Amino acid sequence: MSETAKELKEKLMMKERRGAASFTAEELKEADAYCEGYKTFLDNARTEREAVSYVKAMAEEKGFTPYDPTASYKPGDRVYIVNREKAIGLAVIGKNGTSNGVRLAIAHIDSPRIDLKPNPLYEADGMALFKTHYYGGIKKYQWTTIPLALHGRVVKLDGTCVDIHIGDDPKDECFLITDLLPHLDKEQATKTMAKAFTGEDLNILIGSRPYDNSDEKDLIALNIMHILNERYGIEESDFLSAELNFCPAYPTRDIGFDRSMIGGYGHDDKCCAYPSVTAILDTELPECTCITYLTDKEEIGSEGNTGMQSDFLRYFIYDLAKQDGNEGYHVLSKSKCLSADVNAAFDPTFPSVYETKNCSFINEGVVISKYTGHGGKYDTSDASAEFMGEIRAMLERNNVKWQIGELGKVDVGGGGTIAKYVANMNVDVVDLGVAVLCMHAPFEVISKADMLMAHKAFYGLFN
Ligand code: MN
Ligand code: MN
Repeated sequence: MSETAKELKEKLMMKERRGAASFTAEELKEADAYCEGYKTFLDNARTEREAVSYVKAMAEEKGFTPYDPTASYKPGDRVYIVNREKAIGLAVIGKNGTSNGVRLAIAHIDSPRIDLKPNPLYEADGMALFKTHYYGGIKKYQWTTIPLALHGRVVKLDGTCVDIHIGDDPKDECFLITDLLPHLDKEQATKTMAKAFTGEDLNILIGSRPYDNSDEKDLIALNIMHILNERYGIEESDFLSAELNFCPAYPTRDIGFDRSMIGGYGHDDKCCAYPSVTAILDTELPECTCITYLTDKEEIGSEGNTGMQSDFLRYFIYDLAKQDGNEGYHVLSKSKCLSADVNAAFDPTFPSVYETKNCSFINEGVVISKYTGHGGKYDTSDASAEFMGEIRAMLERNNVKWQIGELGKVDVGGGGTIAKYVANMNVDVVDLGVAVLCMHAPFEVISKADMLMAHKAFYGLFN
């Protein structure tokens, strides 16, 4: 035998996982520095509207201007396009324009949260409360007894908009969903998790003092409305034309004595949105036109005109194609996309739901999810071997540490991303993103080193 088993193993077999040990000290330092910008972004982009305005400012600072479909653009030009203040596209025109298709990184900027119902205000037993309707997949008990902040917009009858943002500054008041004390939870504790806390139990405590000492009914609710009227000029019926979201009120923080991780609200999917933005901001003169697109409504199935099922991005690409004298559908057919979304990181406290040869781990680099979905690969885009091969080679060329990731064991659960809607446009697409612990919790965790790899991956796609 010419080769020892050790040599042959080195040559033929998958390498062992080494976690953060496989990063150089320089890479870790670079990752730590890179993540400072991300932490500020995450603190200022709790909702899709806030993310759009933050990213728009980042882009303008780096020379991006509003897209004009009637203008003509030359290679290296930088434009952005905003959809209803909830989704944004950033494009850098390539040397070949759209002729060989466009390169896309698409992340979502909505995150699970608690929305107000259209008619939310009520008073009960000496307290004023808001009725809510949760948004996206949440484990309801996780959202009780934590400080919540209110974000959103109210449109008054005369058409004026009032933006509300209260609770994130520690000097602000904040809000919460109450829960039972353990002393009285004997009955609650016997229920399954799904039944112990229902959607209609997610009521938000907002006040407890009356407007005055008179004999009128519901004076505490009246007092709240009085405060809101003085502050924002709104009345109760204005809630009917509002989008008001409660998000966790605490700031993004470093996690661990070694500060190797970040805890925060909305990593899914801002931890992919941010690197796809920094990657395009760093892109100057690519071969193909590159687009980072941040979409809304992924958490509720990508529905609606700001979600990935809308034609907004398609029309933008058609316009870019037209300016180059190309057919939009020809451009789409030659386009390639990284669907930038998170996957579930292995959690040693709950090992039974993961299959460790195929799930993702923190500090193993970006995760490629060949497919998502559930059961027998239902409801997903299963990337082809050819496209997997292409992306794999691109990552290796750019020294991006990466891993493969299935969401969990087969038939244990499931989930989806925007990839299938991109695939429906006849675009080659695969999911690539960051591994997240406690996904969809009000405080999720990611690794800093993985964030840097995400930036490098999207930059590699564009350049
Ligand atoms: Mn996601
Ligand atoms: Mn999600």
